[in-house]
Amino acid sequence: MKKVIRHLPTQGVVLRYTNFREADRMVTLLSPTLGKISVMARGCRKPNSRFLSATELFCYGDYVLYKKDDFHVMTQASVNDSFYDIRNDLEKLSYSSYILELTEEVASPGQEDNHLFYLLLQTLSYLCYSDLNPKDITHAFEIKLMDHLGYRPILDRCMICGTKNKSYYFDVRQGGLICGSCHNMGETGYNIQMGTIKTIEYILNMDFKRLNILKIPTSTSKELDRILEAYIIERMEKKLKTRQFIQEFDHIKGP
Ligand SMILES: [Zn+2]
Repeated sequence: MKKVIRHLPTQGVVLRYTNFREADRMVTLLSPTLGKISVMARGCRKPNSRFLSATELFCYGDYVLYKKDDFHVMTQASVNDSFYDIRNDLEKLSYSSYILELTEEVASPGQEDNHLFYLLLQTLSYLCYSDLNPKDITHAFEIKLMDHLGYRPILDRCMICGTKNKSYYFDVRQGGLICGSCHNMGETGYNIQMGTIKTIEYILNMDFKRLNILKIPTSTSKELDRILEAYIIERMEKKLKTRQFIQEFDHIKGP
């Protein structure tokens, strides 16, 4: 008889949680091997519960899950990194919340995805511990994520006529550059400077571990913001709530 393994050890990052009943919490974890997974943490909001810190947002930990019918119960948890400082900075918090929401949106239940897991983990590390601009980290994450999902933009020629040109627009529906003539024939596209094209290419080809040397000029960053937002809305077919929050935050903070 085949032995059924019910206790599953896994690493995880907390993407979201919902409190319910007196002290319970339903946690959505991203696991490198199990994908997006809902886990019940019983009694974790009781004083002195050993599960409380392991069920907070952003927490990266080692978990053991017990599979019961269609859902999982947390039976052991230890925190590797709570990324605590993210919570003390409203700007970092708003970008990190967006990163979590976008990750949850693209992650699949039950599907192994090591790459997505480590991309998320590295991004949260940069947001928590580096002096990089949270906006630049977020743009790099968005570009790497789109590439990972199979939406690597075409940046070396016009996607419609194939012309190699000096001036382009970025077409979010086509997923890459279109030239001036094709743009004039009623196609839609966003203005894009050569510097922004080079920055996207640089990030696409860069090892994410080398992100600490990234510096993006303000004008490029503004263009990236518009283009990546539109590109992600086009691919996800919706606008994420936390993206809206970042814009409101930017507005309050000023230029
Ligand atoms: Zn063209």
